[in-house]
Amino acid sequence: MQQTHVEELFEWIDEAATAIEYQENTTYLESVADALDVLYHHAPFDDMADLLKQQLEKHLKDIDLNKFEKEEIRKATQLAILKGMKGATQQQHLITPDTVAMFMGYLTQRLFKDAQEIRIFDPACGTANLLTAVLNQLDKQVAAYGSDVDETLMKLALANANLQKTEIEFFHQDSLRPFLLEPVDFVLADLPVGYYPDDVQAGEYNLKAEEGYSYAHHLFIEQSLRYTKQGGYLMFVIPNFLFESDQATQLNAFLREHAHIVGMLQLPEALFKEEKHAKSILVLQKKGKGTEAPKEALLAKLPSFKNHNAMADILAQINQWFEKNHSS
Ligand code: SAM
Repeated sequence: MQQTHVEELFEWIDEAATAIEYQENTTYLESVADALDVLYHHAPFDDMADLLKQQLEKHLKDIDLNKFEKEEIRKATQLAILKGMKGATQQQHLITPDTVAMFMGYLTQRLFKDAQEIRIFDPACGTANLLTAVLNQLDKQVAAYGSDVDETLMKLALANANLQKTEIEFFHQDSLRPFLLEPVDFVLADLPVGYYPDDVQAGEYNLKAEEGYSYAHHLFIEQSLRYTKQGGYLMFVIPNFLFESDQATQLNAFLREHAHIVGMLQLPEALFKEEKHAKSILVLQKKGKGTEAPKEALLAKLPSFKNHNAMADILAQINQWFEKNHSS
């Protein structure tokens, strides 16, 4: 991967998005989605103003999409999305940080080392940054599915996948409602954290709160288990307080019944603005015929991703754990 390629493509997207934002009077983030579409189709949209069309046509002459690798496209897109989210008012960090996505890709590759083909589902796929980062690290046949309720993020996800020439089947819906989807081998998600406002739909879940609103992140875990095959795996980015909240007893009992805890890796605190927002990666296996909990779960506190020596140590320990505990 060439950093200069990432910068060149980011600058192209940024310039196109800025022109669209200015002339169409939309947000920068919406304009990034349009800019990515224009790039993919190598043409402006029919309904754009003539001046904008001319600008974009000229701009398209400056870029040759074929020279970019998938990861270069993902990273350039991610930079433009991050720029668009900086000004936005949403409190949640909506795109999974690159370092976390890359690390989850590495864990996924280890978990499915010997599999020839897998089906993957991200029910909170947002911009598809996490999903495509993981897909780009897998050296096997993959069928991928993503879902998100947010329209702008869905548009970004679709354009992102198109540009990377990665086939993903997207569902634009509330992921806590049913899907027309056969259970998959692997569910991964950077979980949305907070309350789920649809109390009626929450009633379909064992993990519905006894009183008041239910936690979306709990319902997402239950829903993910429904769409995982027996013996399949799940990997979530979770808040560190997941097992300490007021509804943790219910969650613990539910997980004990349906899943094995494979591992829990605490992400470096420096990644998060405040300690209370710090997160971990939780890996589960759905119980099934012949499945067993690992002799010991993979538990670790990850050092800063910038500390290469400490990171190399941890990776060696993780590799050792996989050699000892995981043979599929
Ligand atoms: N992994 C994503 C990425 O790389 O861009 C970011 C995921 S973000 C932390 C959580 C996502 O959950 C957001 O995109 C949000 O729109 C989505 N979400 C929240 N509630 C949802 C629901 N009920 N159904 C579907 N998606 C939902």
